[in-house]
Amino acid sequence: MRHVIVGSGPAGVTAAETLRKADPAADITLLCGEGEPPYARMAIPYLLSGNIGEAAIYIRTDADHYGRLGICLVHARARAVDTSRRAVLLGDGRSLPYDRLLVATGSRPSREQIPGMDLPGVLTCWTLQDARAIIARARPGTRIVQMGAGFVGCIIMEGLLSRGVDLTILVRSGYMVRRMMSPTASGLIRRWCESKGVTILTRTQPKGVGAKAGALEVDLGEGRTLPADLYLSVVGVDPNLDFLAGSGIEIGRGILVDAHLQTSVPGVYAAGDVAEATDCVTGQRQLNAIQPNAVEQGRIAALNMAGRPARFRGSFAFNVLTTLGLVSSSFGQWQGAPGGESAEVLDESRYRYLNLQFDGDRLVGANCVGFSEHLGAIRGLIEGRLRLGSWKQRLLDDPARIMQAYLSAIRHAA
Ligand SMILES: Cc1cc2nc3c(=O)[nH]c(=O)nc-3n(C[C@H](O)[C@H](O)[C@H](O)COP(=O)(O)OP(=O)(O)OC[C@H]3O[C@@H](n4cnc5c(N)ncnc54)[C@H](O)[C@@H]3O)c2cc1C
Repeated sequence: MRHVIVGSGPAGVTAAETLRKADPAADITLLCGEGEPPYARMAIPYLLSGNIGEAAIYIRTDADHYGRLGICLVHARARAVDTSRRAVLLGDGRSLPYDRLLVATGSRPSREQIPGMDLPGVLTCWTLQDARAIIARARPGTRIVQMGAGFVGCIIMEGLLSRGVDLTILVRSGYMVRRMMSPTASGLIRRWCESKGVTILTRTQPKGVGAKAGALEVDLGEGRTLPADLYLSVVGVDPNLDFLAGSGIEIGRGILVDAHLQTSVPGVYAAGDVAEATDCVTGQRQLNAIQPNAVEQGRIAALNMAGRPARFRGSFAFNVLTTLGLVSSSFGQWQGAPGGESAEVLDESRYRYLNLQFDGDRLVGANCVGFSEHLGAIRGLIEGRLRLGSWKQRLLDDPARIMQAYLSAIRHAA
């Protein structure tokens, strides 16, 4: 059996290793698209802050790991997939035949549609190569203008500030991390960042970036400009799908997969940031671009590829974010369910906030800032779809009793 895996992030590597265990005799090829050994992007913030060196970013640190497992690493990019001939066409002209194919190509940074994005000094922060370029330029006093304050935008701030840079964040909307956080939670995060010396300009969309006197000039419109040595564009990501054009694989926002993570084309699977699977709480299809999801999907897809039927129990929208040391998190339907109820506690002076969202007597979503002690209980209640019964009213009165509510709910569910 010839297995080809396109993409060597956490989803691809987990799939390759699972395949090897499940099918000792199979041919396994792992396509690495960045000219690097397989690495984990989520370690980039630690690389930026100097807490780890480059060697620690690689998913497996033993240089001979893949060779020993008989996993063949091919450094090339997939250009197209011919599903009728069962072959992956590579950028260098080669063609890789497969019996089972896994697409695990992740996502790439969205490109801002403004002039100046090709200038030297305009970077994003997604790949190891990006991290190296940032580290080479970020010195004490370097003026960094960062466009975007989503998950990645927030998580990299600590590493940037630790290098002594002067950081200004531009936010198109009124709120930081607005895809994860309510306005109240977002307001706390903003105030926290400002207290650490970061300048934040909301409702700000640059018109373009130009070169001026050996530096950059960010045009904010209406005659306003900001000087910068580095412009970091971190405005979201898009799944890597272009090379699948004409393959017949059904695409929504990502690659549509069934409960076995198989695509619309038999024998072709997808896993990780690129796959649009079902959410275990809402039952709706969604992209869920977090590493634990990629690893689990890589594992499940590989078992199915090896002929061992396995079902994916659905992805769970769960993000934990550390912004300059302030931990915040979002779970499930944090914006609330139609007709649902909510409860919250807020302690502005201590940067603590907890918001719970209910649908009937079930917890369906939550936002937390500065509350890291009960994340497991919140996750367990939402993911397990546990009924709260009389504990719902108690939580409406005092959301901080979440752990007692969880313990009661699991006792009743048992
Ligand atoms: C700075 C940063 C911090 C993060 N922090 C966290 C965190 O704290 N927690 C968390 O859960 N998640 C975090 N993430 C997100 C996490 O890294 C992703 O969810 C995870 O990497 C997804 O894994 P994947 O294998 O699906 O995709 P990826 O890791 O993106 O891997 C995809 C691979 O496919 C390759 N590829 C793409 N196109 C092709 C092609 N045509 N041919 C060949 N190869 C190709 C790419 O080069 C890459 O190697 C962070 C991401 C970043 C950038």
